[in-house]
Amino acid sequence: MKRNCPVCNETKREFLIKQKFARISGGPDLSYTLVICKSCGVCFADDIPSQKVYDGYYKKFSKYEDTQGSGRHSSLMDAAHKRIGKIMASYTPPSASVIDIGCATGNVLRHLRDQGFKTLFGIDPSPECQRVARERYGINSKAVSLDDFKPSETYAAAIMSHVLEHIIDVAKSMTKIHRLLAPKGFLYIEVPAAHKFTEKPDGLFEHFSIEHINYFSPKTLEVLMNRHGFKKRMLKTVLNRSGFYPQFPVIISVWQKEQVLVARRPDRSLAADLRTYIAYCKRAMRPIEKKIDAIIRSKQRIILWGAGSHTLKLFETTRLSKVRIGAIVDDTLSLQGKYIKGFRINSPGVISPDLNLPILISSMHFQEQIAHRIQHQLGLANRIIRLYPKK
Ligand SMILES: [Zn+2]
Repeated sequence: MKRNCPVCNETKREFLIKQKFARISGGPDLSYTLVICKSCGVCFADDIPSQKVYDGYYKKFSKYEDTQGSGRHSSLMDAAHKRIGKIMASYTPPSASVIDIGCATGNVLRHLRDQGFKTLFGIDPSPECQRVARERYGINSKAVSLDDFKPSETYAAAIMSHVLEHIIDVAKSMTKIHRLLAPKGFLYIEVPAAHKFTEKPDGLFEHFSIEHINYFSPKTLEVLMNRHGFKKRMLKTVLNRSGFYPQFPVIISVWQKEQVLVARRPDRSLAADLRTYIAYCKRAMRPIEKKIDAIIRSKQRIILWGAGSHTLKLFETTRLSKVRIGAIVDDTLSLQGKYIKGFRINSPGVISPDLNLPILISSMHFQEQIAHRIQHQLGLANRIIRLYPKK
């Protein structure tokens, strides 16, 4: 479907790059075209499926449950959540009621409680997240999307951390949040910092995530917030050293519900920043393409380890589908039994001593963790092929 600009609702756009992802059986095609809004300068994904399709995808393939469902947080991710608690405490008294929109397993709200807040509530579409939030932290939440949420009261503050970049109808969500907040209420927003993708670049356009469809800079975020009746109180760009993509730049910001008379001007530099990032990724792709081409030439059968978004992108960006793949394996339970390009995704348990093929690791951030798992946890002697330099 075609989208208007999620920030300013204009229709004139400029092409940036296409991002193609292979499909997992039973899952949707989430490929998209990245464009820049000619009016406000924000970057967004166009030619995307409907929100219903995304909702179904999140339900079926939720990685948030796999890594967070048990309430396991890396200490680094925990530090990022703690930071939100501290920031909120510096803007609102602990008597304030706070709602976390997209609260996952409630870890951010737990840190707010540590800061003395008492009236805490969260919403998240996943029932599994709701269960863990209650059992693990005693945090009350409701398994509902923002769209379907019918609040019975207003809140003094709201948190939206890593949510806005996933939403198709941003204006609708912002209108809802505005209504949800009491006059002068505070809103915490955290999103990836698209103008800083060049600072910690990677090889496979990983900042252009399969799930992210809005790419903000500080200026474009301010245009959005001003349009919806929020005034800037604080905005910073920092490097998050946590999460699924370690060391990714994020915008952290606090806004207050207040009429804004002079709205922020458009961002004329985000397009250039993203073009620099794209050029970097294209250069960084060359050694990866070479490695895959060498495997094709050798006619060697391999085991492909990893069926996540890295692999979905690798299939469409390189000649990986020409490689003789003996098996695809992945530890993620929600992926096992499904198919990519006709290959079944298996548990790594299928790798027996008889299946002594080289293992190609398809992951950048978890490459060494996977190598360690192969050699030391599973005790396999298979040769390992890395796509990225060994760290
Ligand atoms: Zn726009």
